[in-house]
Amino acid sequence: MSEDTASPADTDRLLGFLLPDRDARGRVVRLGSALGQILAAHAYPSPIRNLLADALVLTALMGTLRQDEHSQFTLQAQTEGGVVELLVCDYRDGELRGYVRHDPSRMDELGPNPSLAALFGPAVGRTVDQGGGHLAITFDLATSGERYQGVVPLEGASLAEACESYFTRSEQVPTVIRLGRTVVDGQIIAGGLLVQHMPPVGEAKLGEAAAEDLMPLPAEPGLDWEHVSILSASIQATELADPALPLDHVLWRLFHEEREVRVLAEQALTRGCRCTAEYYRSVLAKFPEEERVAMRNEDGIIAVDCAFCSKIFDIDL
Ligand SMILES: [Zn+2]
Repeated sequence: MSEDTASPADTDRLLGFLLPDRDARGRVVRLGSALGQILAAHAYPSPIRNLLADALVLTALMGTLRQDEHSQFTLQAQTEGGVVELLVCDYRDGELRGYVRHDPSRMDELGPNPSLAALFGPAVGRTVDQGGGHLAITFDLATSGERYQGVVPLEGASLAEACESYFTRSEQVPTVIRLGRTVVDGQIIAGGLLVQHMPPVGEAKLGEAAAEDLMPLPAEPGLDWEHVSILSASIQATELADPALPLDHVLWRLFHEEREVRVLAEQALTRGCRCTAEYYRSVLAKFPEEERVAMRNEDGIIAVDCAFCSKIFDIDL
């Protein structure tokens, strides 16, 4: 890899990579127009837009750690009493979507660059038993039908920190996550890097099976991980967000002194939603008849709106 070729914008793409000598793996991603399309479905004020941009980058980074086809990754943060009540993002087969439910009348409480606690309120940092906010990470695996879910308290200075502590607490996998955001020609660009010590082989099989099955059993995180985590944490937010800096150059800048950086398959990313009239019809069909009657308007139609894309479906059962 070299840095001397000029390149067009590198956005809406994710690269997976391994550092085989260091028992580490990672993802680097940058979102551009796909992010713009998701945000355009709602008139979010800028702190909420930035939060959702960060959450979608995290969703791409984490959702691609387990790549079985049609499996779904969901990131959900929820509190009571915060300006933000609910944040939901998911990833499946290269498609991202997400939305935030917040109280527009309380935006004055937030500065231009609010902390996680400012956004989600006093519930941040409390345990779930104490009525605290929580971060739920869910993998629904399509092939086996299994669901893996980890729920941790919503804590840290940012959503990225909350996700780092999810890996430490719930999966015991040391992980470094860095995010960056910028605006180019009115278009928000958001990038991110996730690097982690290799999880035990059983879990790794859910990721890049072919490449990672060949890895030896990982040692406990030691000097190699310390080295990798220091290098990874040195990435600048401006580098992650700069659409003119190709993603493989980001890796080259960080790891060019390593003996091997093995770049795995890339993943193109798009905005995608699974809302269809057929889907809502099948959901409504499971409700008892008297509840369906109560939901109907005077024309006998049930209006259902998709929270992700703000689309309204008129369902005539
Ligand atoms: Zn939708």
